[in-house]
Amino acid sequence: MSLSMPFTFDPGACFIGGQWVAPANREQLSLSNPSTGAELCQIAHGSAADIDTAVNAAQDALDGEWGRATALQRGRWLAALGKLVQDRVEDLAALEAQDVGKPLTQARADAVALARYCEFYSGAADKVHGDTLPYLEGYTVYTLREPHGVTGHIIPWNYPMQIIGRSVGAALTMGNAVVLKPAEQACLTALAFAELAQQAGFPPGAINVVPGLGAEAGAALSAHTGVQHISFTGSVQTGMSVQQAAGQNVIPVTLELGGKSAQLVFEDADIEAAMPFLINAGIQNAGQTCSAASRILVHRSIYSTVVSKMAKQYQQLRVGDAMQDFSIGPLISEQQKQRVQSFINNASDLNCVAEGQIDSAASNTGFFVKPMLFADVPAEHALAQQEVFGPVQVVMPFDDDDHALALANGTEFGLVAAIWSRDGARQMRLAKKLRAGQVFINNYGAGGGVELPFGGVGKSGHGREKGFEALYGMSALKTVAARHD
Ligand code: ADP
Repeated sequence: MSLSMPFTFDPGACFIGGQWVAPANREQLSLSNPSTGAELCQIAHGSAADIDTAVNAAQDALDGEWGRATALQRGRWLAALGKLVQDRVEDLAALEAQDVGKPLTQARADAVALARYCEFYSGAADKVHGDTLPYLEGYTVYTLREPHGVTGHIIPWNYPMQIIGRSVGAALTMGNAVVLKPAEQACLTALAFAELAQQAGFPPGAINVVPGLGAEAGAALSAHTGVQHISFTGSVQTGMSVQQAAGQNVIPVTLELGGKSAQLVFEDADIEAAMPFLINAGIQNAGQTCSAASRILVHRSIYSTVVSKMAKQYQQLRVGDAMQDFSIGPLISEQQKQRVQSFINNASDLNCVAEGQIDSAASNTGFFVKPMLFADVPAEHALAQQEVFGPVQVVMPFDDDDHALALANGTEFGLVAAIWSRDGARQMRLAKKLRAGQVFINNYGAGGGVELPFGGVGKSGHGREKGFEALYGMSALKTVAARHD
């Protein structure tokens, strides 16, 4: 199947300085449809030369109309963009379903979230301000929140639209000019975003998109001396390289590197209310979610009940073509499928209590894996420690609050956690002790709402995206101390 294309941009182009241009080397990369394994289209093989042109275009934008625009005007451009995205939700969802293999309903939710980010940040643009500070007699001191300048955004393939919304959205709000390097496995909605941004009236160079390989275009962006801030979402290993490269230029980085997030289910929990959250947060986007709840920790007194309820639901799960809109689509690539498969092969000693089914009509060249639920998994097992990034969840019993906490905090990650309990004191106590950037009580938001600051501790990364907090990270604070005695 070839690409069904509801936009006018050329998928093989870069978007630089308000123009659709061929990459400098004229080379293309192949993009595949994960539901079939077949080539979907060709995309630009952007390289260091294109990154350099894009950084220069972004700097020109800062020196021109974009840099002179008021906060109110930036907010209006974002509002216009949000409306265009909202009007094109179905088109964006269809593009994402083909590119990422994301079931249509989930792709639609991502497009709606992108519109919502634009809406949220459009309203925030002229409401972020500095302070006046009490100081010595004869002084007036105030702070200014200024853009960093050119910001680089290196994003993964799992949630392109949501990550563009949270990262690029916040950067534009504060007046930065953006160079976006989408993942080589999925970059079409990043290009569609650029098309819509141009229609919304953003000046040339405010937003630039250069598709290409991580080791080339991504590495060039993270090391570029004209970039003043890098936002990266992806693997721990690549995050470390990006931070090292940015360190050479002593610029700040925001890293969001995934996790091994746990939901803690206590003996007094409302199990029926918890059940959809326990499962969906694990299998959403075929488990390819940084904040996937891949570990379910359950008090021993209700352990067998929860395991058997989850197992029953796992048996109902169907995997298939993204356009067929089952609860689970394919993984992004053959390589990702092999990676998940090797985790499963190395778990043959474990107790797999249930698995879902691949739809009989699904293409056998698509990148499908069955969802699998493992119970009684030892805490030190790879499946309980490492990020699988596939539809695999583990369930583990605990004896008391301290045991639950030790298990929950017992990985090198710390992104999201959830507490299912009706005991208010326990909720407050554990929320403080859980090592995570977000804690949900009697709910779970994989990624959460646009208003809620998000990010990790430990190997989950550092810096905060989303909400107002992101705007502080996307700006540099200047203190002005005026003496006037
Ligand atoms: P994954 O393993 O999920 O593909 P990566 O962390 O490798 O995750 O990729 C996330 C993003 O980082 C993608 O846009 C990718 O192209 C980019 N990337 C990969 N390697 C590098 C690198 N060495 N420097 C900068 N960006 C990179």
